Amino acid sequence: MISVSDGQARILGQIARTTEPETIPVGEALGRVLAGDVTAPFDVPPADNSAVDGYAVHGEAIPGEGRARLRVVADLPAGSVFEGALRPGETIRIMTGAPMPAGPDTVVPQELVEREGDEVLIPPIAREANVRKRGEDVREGEAVLRAGAPLRAQELGLLASLGFATVTVHRRPRVAVLSTGDEVVEPGLPRKPGQIYDANRFSLRGLVEGLGCEAFDLGIVPDVRDLLKARLLEAAGVADVVLTSGGVSVGIYDLVKDVLSEIGGIDFWQVNMQPGRPLAVGRIGETHFFGLPGNPVASMLTFSLFVRPALLRLMGRRDLEPARFWAVATEGMRKKAGRREFKRGILRHTDRGWEVSITGPQGSGILTSMVLANCLIVLPEERGEVKAGELVLVEPFNALG
Ligand code: AMP
Ligand code: MG
Repeated sequence: MISVSDGQARILGQIARTTEPETIPVGEALGRVLAGDVTAPFDVPPADNSAVDGYAVHGEAIPGEGRARLRVVADLPAGSVFEGALRPGETIRIMTGAPMPAGPDTVVPQELVEREGDEVLIPPIAREANVRKRGEDVREGEAVLRAGAPLRAQELGLLASLGFATVTVHRRPRVAVLSTGDEVVEPGLPRKPGQIYDANRFSLRGLVEGLGCEAFDLGIVPDVRDLLKARLLEAAGVADVVLTSGGVSVGIYDLVKDVLSEIGGIDFWQVNMQPGRPLAVGRIGETHFFGLPGNPVASMLTFSLFVRPALLRLMGRRDLEPARFWAVATEGMRKKAGRREFKRGILRHTDRGWEVSITGPQGSGILTSMVLANCLIVLPEERGEVKAGELVLVEPFNALG
């Protein structure tokens, strides 16, 4: 038996390289990972500009009290530039975002002035008010995004605002997913007694695609040595990573281990966790291989614990840790000291803070426990029974990306 953390460390130790960089349009880069630092080609904003609709004035023209009268010499919409210089006693009407003209350092908001023909009366106001300074967001030459950062909506916006039409990211890892088992049937086809519909290929593809990888569906392989061997070799030919589910227990039909040791290298682990203990990890040539357990909850969980960090590292991500925080258990939870256990939890925010309950029966075949859940409850090895009111660690599902 090995611990969850040892297993994770060994797997990451085997991911020596990331996928290669490629340059793609910014508009198509959501979920990709930056392959290099991005430095700003210019200051943002590129010039001092007005934060409001109002009147641009010289600091010396601002009255200490009462009102000062200024002559309006131009109207400046966003997108245009006032070429001349303003003399004291003059002002221009300026729109939000328009560059400040030479001279003025302050903008008096429109609603604070009184306009009389081509003149305005301005009240006292703090000098430099309502002016956004050149470079206050980003300085030219500054690294605004770092290699290894995932591109979310805001990063795409920032790249575009810096004028980039394309961005260099890591290629999406190609992940082949296949199910094993004589009893496993394709949904949509008739099911005979003793057969079950394939759940794992669909859950695993969803997890793979949710991380931003490209999934290849290699179907279902019966428990026949030569067929499994052929399909695994085919998978390794097209993919960076091959995932299988089922066939890694110790039954006579559990062939994954045997076939892998014939065509590649394999480590077979009993991980000290509940649910989902058996796991096969290895390589077929340059391709990484993960043989996940057949039980649907166990296969999703072992994916999250062992495959997810490997895929993120392959994609070039720097930060591999899922978000975790403490929540109050609203009910007792059975727990055996000495192994790490993962319960499916329902996390809620109440006026008492974050609270979590379990989804009901926690068997590793009960896929509805994943459907009801919005988090995992992580109970470390040393922990024993949990009593209602105690704190437990939770990992929200949607933070797994
Ligand atoms: P195995 O490790 O192959 O013995 O599978 C363990 C359990 O998971 C058995 O009850 C299998 O029927 C079930 N199982 C295996 N593969 C799948 C699958 N793709 N979808 C749903 N259940 C599966
Ligand atoms: Mg099987």
